[in-house]
Amino acid sequence: MKLLFLTVSLLASTLLATAQNNITLVIHGGAGTITRKNMTPEKEKAYREVLNQALQTGYTILKKGGTSLDAVEATVRVMEDSPLFNAGKGAVFTHEGKNEMDAAIMDGKNLMAGSVASVTTIRNPISTARKVMEKSEHVMMIGTGAEAFAKKQGMEIVDPSYFYTEARWNALQKALKDEKTSLDHSGDTTGALIDDKIFIEGKKFGTVGCVALDKFGNLAAATSTGGMTNKRYGRVGDAPIIGAGTYANNATCAVSATGHGEYFIRSVVGYDISALMEYKGYGVKKAADEVVMKKLVERKGEGGVIALDRKGNFAMPFNSEGMYRGYIKADGSSEVLIYKD
Ligand code: ASP
Repeated sequence: MKLLFLTVSLLASTLLATAQNNITLVIHGGAGTITRKNMTPEKEKAYREVLNQALQTGYTILKKGGTSLDAVEATVRVMEDSPLFNAGKGAVFTHEGKNEMDAAIMDGKNLMAGSVASVTTIRNPISTARKVMEKSEHVMMIGTGAEAFAKKQGMEIVDPSYFYTEARWNALQKALKDEKTSLDHSGDTTGALIDDKIFIEGKKFGTVGCVALDKFGNLAAATSTGGMTNKRYGRVGDAPIIGAGTYANNATCAVSATGHGEYFIRSVVGYDISALMEYKGYGVKKAADEVVMKKLVERKGEGGVIALDRKGNFAMPFNSEGMYRGYIKADGSSEVLIYKD
């Protein structure tokens, strides 16, 4: 009996130690036409700094024994507070010159999830998404309702002017100009109605996301975005759609996506990666590659994902020219990558 007890506790502590050894955090800061050619050393340095800061923020939490949920939320907040990424402070502008943000978070332990869409006054949408998950009976809240809930939950509310950045404003002006030019041409790829064509500036996706594995062996995913420049009619992307841009399940993986949302929604990207692992026994890399590098490519859906499994294996595939991305492992070794090669 004593021997059995000893064996069981030894096994339990070995399992815990393995989980502790595997703490891992992976981030992305958007995919798109990111090439060395259109990058300056200063710009690259600025991006790398924030991405490293984001990695360290999440890692510190995990290292201290914090949960993957706390880690993904805090990590995404760092990128939301930076004007460099299309989330929070740096959110892109809609056709009407507003900033409408979407965000989601999911807990792989119990499949709980929370998301917000089309919010305009919440400084850190990811934290409100978490409140939706933990403090309400719902999964998704939108617009003014989500903002009222955020206020009630003590979230920081800001004037919409907080989200103004010159770079994003200029991007909208360019998109509006290009839209005028492109009206004479066919080739719309937005999935919008032909007689109500929306020209979405679709080559730069700056959404941010994070997936993490904590010492308890729990996975979590978080994604936050301003959507796509020049979007109209309350358009919502894939980021806040559970199973599309954000998904986490301890049985398989945690996923956060960036790219042309319409394609990611139709391909149910996050859940498809998880399903390939669950039903076909694929590893996380094979599953993520199958969806991003095959299915999405065939469907002309541009973008990428970060995906992490319960053992700390992860993949960061993208089918665009570049993707801001990075990871940090249990031993603190980390890397930030931007280009394809
Ligand atoms: N996926 C986001 C959207 O479609 C855009 C992005 O990744 O930047 O809203």
